[in-house]
Amino acid sequence: MNNQVDSKSEVNALSQYTVIMVDDELNILQTLKRCFSREKFRVICANSGAEGLKLVADTANVAVIVSDQRMPGMNGSEFLTRSREFAPDAIRMLLTGYSDIETTVAAMNEGGATHYIGKPWEETMLLQTVGGCVMQYHLNMENRRQQEIINQQNAELRELLSQRTQQNCKLEQMASTDALTGLTNRRRFLESLENERSRTERNGGALSLIMFDIDHFKKVNDTWGHAVGDKVLCEIAREMQLFLRKADSAARYGGEEFVILLPETELPGAALIANRLRQMVADTVITQDQGPPVAVTISIGIASLELDESGEKLLIRADQAMYRAKNNGRNRMELAS
Ligand SMILES: [Mg+2]
Repeated sequence: MNNQVDSKSEVNALSQYTVIMVDDELNILQTLKRCFSREKFRVICANSGAEGLKLVADTANVAVIVSDQRMPGMNGSEFLTRSREFAPDAIRMLLTGYSDIETTVAAMNEGGATHYIGKPWEETMLLQTVGGCVMQYHLNMENRRQQEIINQQNAELRELLSQRTQQNCKLEQMASTDALTGLTNRRRFLESLENERSRTERNGGALSLIMFDIDHFKKVNDTWGHAVGDKVLCEIAREMQLFLRKADSAARYGGEEFVILLPETELPGAALIANRLRQMVADTVITQDQGPPVAVTISIGIASLELDESGEKLLIRADQAMYRAKNNGRNRMELAS
């Protein structure tokens, strides 16, 4: 069998395996043992199925099990079947007379034997067949080991990928969120604006923009400190979100400046929402731990997208309307011209 082996290490690897041979005739066992005495792998023998089972159960790395079919007590097929419990991967071989061919076929089916050698055997043939089976078992085990390594590596890669995806999601969220208010930030808002603008341009329909600014916000900060100023910003962000419909998107545009994008909304609809927001903010008082409650108002500019208008131009018109609201007395809204 050695001429079938490519590398020296594989030949050496065979020394870890055991072949178990079972026959009820002691002289056959002796012949077998002598026949395999020069092989790398170990050969151990039993002269009954029961004894063979015990050997299989007690021996590690059983690569091949060779069994006679006709034996008193437990026949070969029963022995081979029962041996599966202890050595499920071992390669099973029947050694029996040619006259028993039908019994042998049945035994091969029931016992899971994959190889068959007739008695009397030709020694070279027997050596080659058993040796080939040991090598086959070795390759099966190697393949399984490699497959397990690959599975493990794949599992690690999947885990790594999942971590990366989570990290990326988190980074993406951080990069698009205003840390103080939790609203979308300016960068992401400008992306949404561009998306909605081109969608509106393609499909027709309306797109409106509300821009507002907290009146005298600098005074809030100067009088009560930045912590109170931050509380005001957060409260307004919270109230804004009460007005949003599913498709609307609100963002903190700058320091005390906010925007709301309203898809599928004409100017009058946007004005209705803006006025409710203005009223709600005016009715709200922000409490502080030390000092009186703080009340603020907002000034609002509203614009709707015109034909072939850029997002930038829309923002400028909303901004101009907002400044008119400031100049016209604050706590009010103006429509863009
Ligand atoms: Mg026999």
